[in-house]
Amino acid sequence: MDDSRSIDSGENGPLRANAGAGPSPHLGSRGPLSDLPFETEERLGLSLSGSLPCVTCRYDLKGISIRGVCPECGTMVRATILYRVDPRAEVFRAVMQPRLVSVLMRLWAAGALVAALAIWIMRIEEVAAGPGGAQSGAVWTRVAFWGLVASALGSLAFVRPIHGMAKGKTLAAIGGVLGYALVLMGYVGVLRAEVGRAAPYSASTLNTDRILMRLLMLAGVLVVLMGVRPTARELVKRCLALRTGRVDRQTILAMITVTLVGMAGDGLRVVAANWQTATGDLLGQLGVVLIAMSGLLLTLGLASAVVDSWRIGAALVMPSPSLREVLGGSGSDDAAERRRNGG
Ligand SMILES: [Zn+2]
Repeated sequence: MDDSRSIDSGENGPLRANAGAGPSPHLGSRGPLSDLPFETEERLGLSLSGSLPCVTCRYDLKGISIRGVCPECGTMVRATILYRVDPRAEVFRAVMQPRLVSVLMRLWAAGALVAALAIWIMRIEEVAAGPGGAQSGAVWTRVAFWGLVASALGSLAFVRPIHGMAKGKTLAAIGGVLGYALVLMGYVGVLRAEVGRAAPYSASTLNTDRILMRLLMLAGVLVVLMGVRPTARELVKRCLALRTGRVDRQTILAMITVTLVGMAGDGLRVVAANWQTATGDLLGQLGVVLIAMSGLLLTLGLASAVVDSWRIGAALVMPSPSLREVLGGSGSDDAAERRRNGG
């Protein structure tokens, strides 16, 4: 015991620690286990009293010593603990209606992605038809509209998903939900502005009404993203894999930037239209490139938001266990309570 103390304190340097006989019981100073008084042999002799699926094969390791290996696949129990246990699990306030929140959050991201893909299909049809070609069919315009409506409905997930959430975050999220009004008005306005006009990016004359409506729609997107971001970040923390940087993402912030790039593209096109020179033409083309780039990156951002929302949703419904839940001990009743409440 004295020996293990000296290893943990590091007073004798790493060489001394490495020279110790047998595998070191020391679990590293950064793992979740270091948060608890683990240095004693007694503590290390513990076996798992809560259920914990093996990280490799999902075999339930309940009852097995934390120094042991998975009887099914031989993976060290320690590895599973480090991977699955959330050292901060008990810090989080409970999520209200975790199933509902997870369904709405997934609807939020998936609806927006469907809308973006439908809009891409319209633009690709425009390019395929060539200049002066027929406008695209009404099917995709409807798919995009209902995708946006679904996303608006899903955004309700961010209004107050967590008990005792700060009022400011709730207000921001409500603003985000209302931002969909701008998005939908802008979208419908874009469609109206296209009626009886040549395809928007193939025509030689600029459709200013359409650009203004597009800007309104993008402004709505900005309001939505900025409004839901504070709560979305709270929810991201519940997902251990996302929080610990195994998947390091700032998806919403990136989408905000990319939306601004798209708006700059529209701005350039307007400036270029009033500036009938070769330079103006070039600026107009640059504007189209910016719009296409921002559309592409926004779509990729939405795709990764869909992936993240699925992970976070799963983490909300089945949160990572805390160390105490896995090892048992004085707090296990609280922990069981916390899991029953779904948070
Ligand atoms: Zn296993």
